This record gives sequence, C-alpha cells and structure tokens, in this order.
Amino acid sequence: MPIFTPGRRWQPPFMPFKREPRASRLLAYLERRVKGPLFGCRMCGNCLLQETAFICPMECAKGVRNGPCGGSTEECCYVDETRPCIWYHIYDRAFKMGREEKLLEVLPPLDWDQVGTETWGDVWHQMREVGMGKFFGGMLSRKAAKRAATWDSVFYPIRQQDWWQGDSKYHPPGYEEPLSELERRLKAGEFVVTGEVAPPMSTATGKMCRMVDLVAPYVAAVNFTDNPSATCRMSSMSCSIHALGRGVEPVMQIAARDRTRTGLQSEVMGASSLGIRNVLCLSGDSGRMGPPPMGRLDVVDLDSVQMIWLLRRMRDEGHYLDGRPIKFPPQLFIGAAASPFASRPEFQALREHKKINAGAQFFQTNLVFDPDGLDVWLNELAKRDVLDKVYILVGITPVKSLKMAQYMDRDVPGVSIPQPLLKRLEDAGDGVQEESVAITLELIEAIRQKEGVNGIHLMAVGWEEIVPRIVTEGNLLPPDFKVPEEAESAGAEAGQAATS
Ligand code: SF4
Repeated sequence: MPIFTPGRRWQPPFMPFKREPRASRLLAYLERRVKGPLFGCRMCGNCLLQETAFICPMECAKGVRNGPCGGSTEECCYVDETRPCIWYHIYDRAFKMGREEKLLEVLPPLDWDQVGTETWGDVWHQMREVGMGKFFGGMLSRKAAKRAATWDSVFYPIRQQDWWQGDSKYHPPGYEEPLSELERRLKAGEFVVTGEVAPPMSTATGKMCRMVDLVAPYVAAVNFTDNPSATCRMSSMSCSIHALGRGVEPVMQIAARDRTRTGLQSEVMGASSLGIRNVLCLSGDSGRMGPPPMGRLDVVDLDSVQMIWLLRRMRDEGHYLDGRPIKFPPQLFIGAAASPFASRPEFQALREHKKINAGAQFFQTNLVFDPDGLDVWLNELAKRDVLDKVYILVGITPVKSLKMAQYMDRDVPGVSIPQPLLKRLEDAGDGVQEESVAITLELIEAIRQKEGVNGIHLMAVGWEEIVPRIVTEGNLLPPDFKVPEEAESAGAEAGQAATS
C-alpha cells in the first residue's frame, strides 16, 4: 500500500448530528477533500491517523478501532472479500515504519458529538495551547524523543478525551483475592480445562442443562457463546444464570457486535449482581455470517479492546464511562479471545499485548490444530514479555465429522487445519470420530508441554458428550475430581455411542 492511499474503495463520510456554524462546515468540507483521498478518512471526527500509520481504520467492515479482528488475513477482509483487511495494512505499514508500538495505545470509541465534524480546528487550538514557538521548536529538535513528545502534546489530548484516557501501559488488576473459581485455580498453578456448551435455540433448556451437568465435573468453568456466527440463540447471560443455579461456574461471553456502551455497562452490572464473575469479551462474528435478512453492519459502538478497558475501569476505578461513581462496582474476571493463526503471529501478538494492557486477564484462543504454529505465536508473546501477565487456555475441538473439519478449515476465520490431519480424518472413513479423538489427545499432549500455556478450552461444538472421555484420557482431570454417578453413566454411554 503506498504512503498515501488515493483511489481507495469509496465509503461515504460520516455526517454530523448537528448543524455546525458556516466556518466549521467549510473547514470540514476542506478537511474531507484533503484527508479523504490521502488517508481514506471518513470524517469520524475523532482522528487517530497518527496512531494508525496514517491509514484511516474506519474502513474496517466491523468498525474496529484497536487492531485486526480474529479473521484478518493478508488477502482480504473476511466480511467482504472484495476489499483488503485495512487493519492488516495498518499493521504492515506500522511495522515497516518502526511505529508498531504506537499501536498499543487503547483508542477510544467514537464520540458521536464529534462525528462528521472537522478536527483541524481542534489541532489549531491545541497548538496555541501548547504555544506555537514551543511546538515548532520541539518539532525541529534533533532529538527524536523530544519531537515525539511535542507531537503528542498536541495530538494526545485530541484523540484521548478525559472520559477515556487510553494509554499503552499495562494495568494490573486492582484486587488480590480471586474473584472466581476459575481464577483461583489458575492462580494456584493448576492446568485447567474449560468447556463450552451451546445455548439452546428455543426456550427449552433441558438438553443444555443435561450437557452442563455432564461436562461440569470435568472442567473449571463452562462457556456459553453469545450468538455465534451472528445467529440468534438464548442469551449467554441467561444460560450462565441457569448454570449458576446448578452449581456450575459459567464464563459469560459478550460480543461487541450486539452491544452499545450503555447496554454493556448495564449488562455487566446485572451479571455481576447475579453472581457471574467470568466474562469473555469478543468482537463477535460479523452479521454477514448470520442467516438472512442481514441487519446493519456499519454501526459498531465498541470493539473488544474498548470493552475490556471499560470493564476494567468499572471494576478497578469504580466509575461508569461518563464518570459517575459506582458505589459497588462489578466483580469481573476479564477474559478475551486470542487468534494465533489470523494475519501474522507478530501482528496478533501485538494485538493480544494490547488486550492484556487494557485489562484482559485470561485468553481463550481460537481453535488450534498446529502446535508448531502455536509456538511461533507464543514466542512472539514471550518477546513482548507478557506471558506472565495473562493465563492462556488453548482452544481445542474434537471434530465430529470430516465435513465439519473441512468446513472449519475453509470457512471459519482464523482457523486452519494442516493437510496431514485432514488426510488422517479422510482415510479413517467410518472411524472418523475415533481418529478425531486420537488427534485431539495428541494435540493436548503436545500443547500442555508448552511454556506459557495454562490450560485447554474444549469447544466440542455439538459433541459435548465426548468431553468426559477427552478430559479423562488426556489426563486433565482436576485434582479434586469425583465422578457423579449420573454423569458417569451418561458420559460412558454417550462417549461409546458417539464414537461407535
Ligand atoms: S478482516 Fe476484520 S479487522 Fe480486517 S477489515 Fe475485515 S472486519 Fe476489519
């Protein structure tokens, strides 16, 4: 991508929600005419160009403002294959320019009062605030650090308003005692297993509850997905409450796709008041992956990094985004998704580093089928010196059929299955499920040896019955494990039936 970005795919600029004075409108018009062709600017009014290698991120199909999503590739955006992944290009250019550490700053969501308005006026006012002589003197300095500090004295207050104050520093949790059983086990150094149970597609919870009961003795916590593939199911919060009612610790997943800043803050307060402690913040699959008719794709209020930043500040600093104090803040063990096989490992490691700085305490990764590839990503995290700041649970799935494996390899963003594994499944014929179990156990054995890995996140996607067998044969049973009688018989029958 050239230094400037003329001739970019056209996307309409944002329109302001208020009628500005004539002079401001004229300035906004001029700014759009200049910055549009040069940088792909869409006039979000909350300019980040200095932080994003001078490419406007507002072209991202998900409206993400803090780095590539888990589906980013060099070839194209997974939401719209006719356009490039703009975040891939931002990262690529930032690395080439040696500006990659700039990408660690947690950038704010849009202030819609500014949307569609000019920022040149703000820059001018801020330069006057700093002092013109001081600004130009600083910018002409021979010392790079002084030039950078001078630049930031003008642009930082513009992009980081008082209500956000994002930075690129690590913010450790502001408490000592573990908030959840999952956190307690991880802190104690246990190699933990979490599982995933799909929420039901109707109001009947019988099957889900049976699966929760079956899986629960084998795992530290059970995840409930939040409308995966942008397809409606029962909410993750409702399923989490059902789990709590059965004495099972949930991980409530929250997709930014379906949240506004007001909705998110309200939801986590409610969740915490009901006893939900583990939350997993995700961008969420694009609405394009869901069934028709397609809803709006271009209105995204928050991305996952912003969600993490917001929740950590609510918990540790005890205030809402608008600054109002929270007398009894939510108690949350904050997790995030990680995608070792999207874009490039060094790009993803930078993105995970940013999530850790923002407040992510544990990662559950996308599906991993290649332990060697996982090493590359872990090495990149080690270079960033963040492995001791986050717990990593590696996503593993026992695929139930060859068709499912092929679908995952072909269509699921950020997932790739090495050809030799696909070949093994293909050659297995009717024994594909038994072969899949063998592959899963081999993967677990290889992955659990790796430094920096704290556990396994088992995503059995419609094959929850196999979880007891995988955990048992993978030598992953928790130290205080006791098989409840019902679960034992149900698990044995289900496991046999599933692989016979
Ligand atoms: S792949 Fe993801 S990050 Fe990249 S442009 Fe598309 S939605 Fe945005």
